[in-house]
Amino acid sequence: MYKVCKFGGSSLSTAEEWKKVKDIVESDEDRHIVVVSAIGKADKKDDKVTDLLYLIYQHHKYHVDFTPLLEAVIDKYLTIKKELGLNIDIESEFDEIKERILDNDISEDELVSRGEYFSAKMMAEYLSFDFVDSKELINFDYNGKIVEPETLECIERAVSVHEYMVVPGFYGSYPNYRICLFSRGGSDVTGSYMAKGAEADLYENFTDVSGFYMADPRIVDNPRHIAQVSYDELRVLSYMGASVLHEETILPLIDVEIPIRVLNTNCPDEEGTWVKKKARGRKHLVTGISGKKGYLALSFVREKKADKLAALLDVLNVFKEYHVPVENIPTSIDAFCVIVEKNLIEEKYYDIIADLKTIPGITRIDEDEDLALVAVVGGNMVRKTNAPSEVLSVFGDNDINIKLIDQGIDEYSIVLGVSNSNFDKSIRVLYEKFAHEKVAEVR
Ligand code: ASP
Repeated sequence: MYKVCKFGGSSLSTAEEWKKVKDIVESDEDRHIVVVSAIGKADKKDDKVTDLLYLIYQHHKYHVDFTPLLEAVIDKYLTIKKELGLNIDIESEFDEIKERILDNDISEDELVSRGEYFSAKMMAEYLSFDFVDSKELINFDYNGKIVEPETLECIERAVSVHEYMVVPGFYGSYPNYRICLFSRGGSDVTGSYMAKGAEADLYENFTDVSGFYMADPRIVDNPRHIAQVSYDELRVLSYMGASVLHEETILPLIDVEIPIRVLNTNCPDEEGTWVKKKARGRKHLVTGISGKKGYLALSFVREKKADKLAALLDVLNVFKEYHVPVENIPTSIDAFCVIVEKNLIEEKYYDIIADLKTIPGITRIDEDEDLALVAVVGGNMVRKTNAPSEVLSVFGDNDINIKLIDQGIDEYSIVLGVSNSNFDKSIRVLYEKFAHEKVAEVR
């Protein structure tokens, strides 16, 4: 058995947490690769190292003294170094980083990546594993996209040389060898590539919760734990707001079918959640409910005789030019609607609207900026003919107006649009209805 484990920032926030990590890794000699995040928050009021590093860069850029922030970062690492009795000389590396910031000789990505880098260097000494820099393993092109074949080749080579290794998450390098970051939370994705490149049997993702729950515990009290979720279900749930794993974590693993197990560093013996290609033997109709507030719906009314497809393509091209991802495109005979996340359009809003207004054949553009999306996800819904009507009746019974309905063609997810003020209520009533509903035949 060959396992890759990833530990998130909260699992590295204090020396006590580091000891738990060591116990976990040493309790199983199959745990060959350990991927680590930067030091995270020890409690709600604490700061994440990654956030501090971004702030340091911005402070320096605007000529504000960054040294107290850098001292705070250094202090976090030195406290853990001291409490664990490590010897590694991180002090002089931090001095060098300070000089490079003052000389404007470090990119934002490189500075921010140092959180993961120092965690990994210290963890390697603590576990007596080899340190292997992800700069040597994870290859990006100049558009910031992973170059998978080269990445897998580099990982394969590293695995043949290092029996046990610690690797920093969250970054890799461009072809010119400069550092490039994944998006926030990206150490999960580093773990996936490590698992794929090493042809691992299992990717264990350790965090501060025991896997996935059927709904957000901040909205629903004690939601049901999910023991198994399929790659497809998880992708929708994560994309729609379930934040335990980065939404891209499963992408490298789909074709090789390496399972992920999400586990809790504080209670490693708990079952956690298995993420597999196919989740089998489950009885519940609905696996999970997630969602997000803050969407904008732009509705386009067409001239009756205008070319339907041309108008739609012209509109979508505007979003493409401005790099704004489109969430959903409900259409009717003479109108169609484009749904986007409000915070992704905000800065470009006026330019986008101006361009959209020049498109021929569109007679009116209406806006609805009070939109939240809720996703009901369950592989077992495929086998129940009245699953959508059951979902919709929950909204009718609770007097919640539905603004949008979208059932994926593969029938395992239904996305509904409601006003932001109805978001929490929608999640709660859906949970109450489906928490325990089971299907007759189990697959
Ligand atoms: N430290 C990075 C972040 O906070 C990456 C990670 O933890 O996965 O986003």
